[in-house]
Amino acid sequence: MSASILIVEDEAAIHQLLAYNLKAEGFRSRVVETGEEVHGALNDEMPDLVLLDWMLPGLSGIEVCKLIRARPETQGLPIIMLTARGEEAERVRGLATGADDYIVKPFSVPEVMARIRTILRRVKPESVAEELEQGDIKLDRAKKRVLRGSRDVTLSPTEFRLLEYLMQQPGRVFSRAQLLDRVWGNEADVDERTVDVHVGRLRKNLSRGKEQDPIRTVRTSGYAFDERFGR
Ligand code: CA
Repeated sequence: MSASILIVEDEAAIHQLLAYNLKAEGFRSRVVETGEEVHGALNDEMPDLVLLDWMLPGLSGIEVCKLIRARPETQGLPIIMLTARGEEAERVRGLATGADDYIVKPFSVPEVMARIRTILRRVKPESVAEELEQGDIKLDRAKKRVLRGSRDVTLSPTEFRLLEYLMQQPGRVFSRAQLLDRVWGNEADVDERTVDVHVGRLRKNLSRGKEQDPIRTVRTSGYAFDERFGR
């Protein structure tokens, strides 16, 4: 699945702009407006990267950064600090506190996206890869296209996201609940049976009942993209 980014920013105009553009880039994002909420947000779901504003009400961005670095499980979590302070001394202080990068406001959106992609390429390369390929199945994220050999595979948007998510981590078994959460997200007014139905359709479209099935059903657990598929 796409990378998940936690935005910590109290100014609505800025976090809305960031969230909108992250979504357009295919990333998932969540917003908290204070440093105090960060701990809970990290416990809910560990993001792949944090965009952290320096000037926050209450706990400052620097303090939040220190707290994130102090927890063993988030020690290596990438952090990009956002700040209006552009002075060299502040920049050094920000980086010394453990931020991976530092962006001065007002920023250009493409610049922020480029910095995010640079970090994700290091920590989660599959989330920025345009193409996922395994065996004779090729999934093109930008073109929203799936090929099996030279055959175009027509998938519904949900089937596409499902395949994309499974292909990102071949071999890993996802429960129906995890798939509902990651593939259907907030629109999930559906139950776990829905996952089975969509996996069934995805399989049918991929294999047409005659080619090798790349999806593994793991009894009582869920589904995985077979890591040995095509090998
Ligand atoms: Ca602020």
